[in-house]
Amino acid sequence: MRLPKFTYRTPRTIAEAVKIVADTGPESQFVAGGTDLYPNMKRRQQMPKTVISVMRLPELNQITGEGKSGIRIGASITLTDIVENETIKRDYPVIAAAARTISTPILRNMGTIGGNLLLDTRCNYYDQNYEWRKAINFCLKKDGDICWVAPGSSKCWAVQSSDLVPVMVAIGARLRLVSTLGERMIEASGFYNDDGIDYLKKRPDELLVDIHLPPTNGWRASYQKLRRRGAFDFPVLGVAAYVRYESADGALSHGRASDIVADAKIVLGGIAPSPVQVNESAQALIGKPLNQDQIQAAAEAAYVKARPLDNTDFVYQWRKQMARQYTLRALNDLHSQTEG
Ligand SMILES: Cc1cc2nc3c(=O)[nH]c(=O)nc-3n(C[C@H](O)[C@H](O)[C@H](O)COP(=O)(O)OP(=O)(O)OC[C@H]3O[C@@H](n4cnc5c(N)ncnc54)[C@H](O)[C@@H]3O)c2cc1C
Ligand code: SF4
Repeated sequence: MRLPKFTYRTPRTIAEAVKIVADTGPESQFVAGGTDLYPNMKRRQQMPKTVISVMRLPELNQITGEGKSGIRIGASITLTDIVENETIKRDYPVIAAAARTISTPILRNMGTIGGNLLLDTRCNYYDQNYEWRKAINFCLKKDGDICWVAPGSSKCWAVQSSDLVPVMVAIGARLRLVSTLGERMIEASGFYNDDGIDYLKKRPDELLVDIHLPPTNGWRASYQKLRRRGAFDFPVLGVAAYVRYESADGALSHGRASDIVADAKIVLGGIAPSPVQVNESAQALIGKPLNQDQIQAAAEAAYVKARPLDNTDFVYQWRKQMARQYTLRALNDLHSQTEG
């Protein structure tokens, strides 16, 4: 498969990058590592006439801060650097662990954290070459007028398949977007639309500059990924679990067995066009110590909420069952980290 012809631009400043995209309009697109965009272009799913690299923008290539104050990760930081960065490994081990499960070492050398958070949605009827898609008369997401997964539906159900997205939502990360119109911060939890075509709140002219992780005061998180091949594969279910503890006197705590869960989030990835927050799981955990009764109740709520569709790997009913198992795994992982 060959890439279509396009003009390649390499701006050196954010101002230059956002001006190029504003001037060239919807026919242009940013590229970072290209591990998602270029295969999509080869399959004629995305066809920008101008491709604007974000790899030479110094501000997007920095990691600043530490756990106590919170950390900023530039959007062009590669996944390999995320996995190997000492501050991230020490203060945000869940980010390093989730990034380590993404694709292969070679792809992690190219792929970036920004590209991962902006990944196109996936579907068995879409992640195919042009001729394959033409043979079924295409689908709603690109060039067609029917959804082959839910033929009666006017909506695309392609799946949000990034490993870092559920983790960012669970821990309360924020994303900084810049365009010629100015700058805005948006919570990861409000950034994804439940629509496989219009899957982001980001406008095409906005550049993702960096990702802001909150201070690590009293919370812990775990990510558990279901995939066919352990070596590399997209998640067909990813469970991110987050808990923040308080000790009995209301002070922040880093998690003793007797401490109370003051806040919790369970976020399911890989089963819908956007990450799915299971509030019922959180309610089962909040206000009590993290013990087996609460963990079982939270896992059951995740099972009830999970409604995977038949458009990725594995039988979807089994993936629903696995939502319970993988929530148990994530919460048991957090439980094993409590002290005393
Ligand atoms: C074989 C294979 C296996 C994979 N396995 C996994 C996996 O297991 N888990 C997983 O999560 N992903 C997986 N991926 C997907 C992909 O490799 C990663 O998600 C990677 O992090 C994407 O980053 P990138 O820099 O290459 O993105 P790119 O392809 O450069 O960009 C992706 C999208 O983001 C936009 N973009 C990039 N940077 C910016 C920016 N700063 N501002 C605005 N827009 C921007 C681009 O326009 C494009 O739409 C896999 C890919 C392949 C090919
Ligand atoms: S969910 Fe439906 S419309 Fe969306 S990519 Fe799959 S087949 Fe196409």
